[in-house]
Amino acid sequence: MSSPIAAIDTDVLTTVNLIRTGHAITRQQLARSTGMGRNTISALINTAIAAGLIAPNGSAPSTGGRAPATWRFRQESGLVLTVGVHTSTLRLAVTDLAGHPLERRTLNWPITRGPEATLARAAAELQEMARGHEPPAWAAGVSLPGPIDQDTGRPSSPPIMPGWDNYDVVGALEAALNVPVSTGNDVNIMLLGYASALPDQASREPGNILYLQVGTGIGVGIMSNGHLHLGAAGAAGDIGHVQVSGVDSVICRCGRTGCLEAVAGGWALLRDARRAAVEGLSPHLRECLDQRGELTIEDIVVGVNAGDTECVTLMVRSATAVGDALAMLVSFFNPGRVVLAGPMPQGCPMFLDVIRRIVDERALSLATTDLEILPAASGLDDELRGCALLAVDSVFTAATA
Ligand SMILES: [Zn+2]
Repeated sequence: MSSPIAAIDTDVLTTVNLIRTGHAITRQQLARSTGMGRNTISALINTAIAAGLIAPNGSAPSTGGRAPATWRFRQESGLVLTVGVHTSTLRLAVTDLAGHPLERRTLNWPITRGPEATLARAAAELQEMARGHEPPAWAAGVSLPGPIDQDTGRPSSPPIMPGWDNYDVVGALEAALNVPVSTGNDVNIMLLGYASALPDQASREPGNILYLQVGTGIGVGIMSNGHLHLGAAGAAGDIGHVQVSGVDSVICRCGRTGCLEAVAGGWALLRDARRAAVEGLSPHLRECLDQRGELTIEDIVVGVNAGDTECVTLMVRSATAVGDALAMLVSFFNPGRVVLAGPMPQGCPMFLDVIRRIVDERALSLATTDLEILPAASGLDDELRGCALLAVDSVFTAATA
């Protein structure tokens, strides 16, 4: 199992990677970054062009004298296969090497079916999807909704993934797909994808970002000075099961009581929404439940935006618990930006208003004066792009190590 670039010279790949990441795109910049002479750089560029990995890309603005030629990474020269494992769906995509989706599929697929069946199905679908595209697959990236052990790349006691604990996801998928596979925790991957799509890389605020996912579960991705912070073991930001005050009696799906997720997570909201529907407290939820036999977070979002009192109550309770936790994180970490992903923060402006107010009240003013708290445009798109970038980054890291 190896990527199509495994046979290419390390210096060539180092050059290509500098161009790919935007760190150096002219001969002079490449020479400065690598410490190599301009003639050597020219030779490496020619080899990379012949291998189809880079292409001429016009010239950079002149700084006096002739404008220097620039190159771009040929993201169309390979494919990445991405897998987003979610509680009840499996999200698959074939992307180019920059993480732009070429084809996507979403399957209704509960995570409780376990790793063997899930990964076999993902591999079969991805192989079928990749067959319709010309370039070879370079790598695959997998996003998993639980803690990932940094050393092994395996899920570590994931509360909602029975059968996945310590499962060799990488080994199983590499055997099936015959390309290098990388895994990561979903919210860290989303943050990676989000940060890479910020408009102007150069002007990015130093990159102190908290990316908070309020989905079925709750987790935070942490970017410190442009680097993803995973922690000593890979557990950083896994705040779904910290205890929140005043709700000791609520039992969480992890078995403990009073977890943040058991009050504010998607599954907790649905539990309470169902009760409100059955007890007739919310005509809107009752109607949704009668029509389809089940409720979704989107039903609550619609209810909130239409002014349904019970939906607003549920939303405020979730936002308050998340806001309390976030206020503490803001004081502790001092991010420049907080991004919230998930159907509730993405669909409900009021959810963000509640959170902003709590953070403003509770956190230090020095930490909140210039703080932006924004909804993600699409957590799912961030995840897909992040999966692809994680996979391609890993291929280059392995090839240039
Ligand atoms: Zn819990």
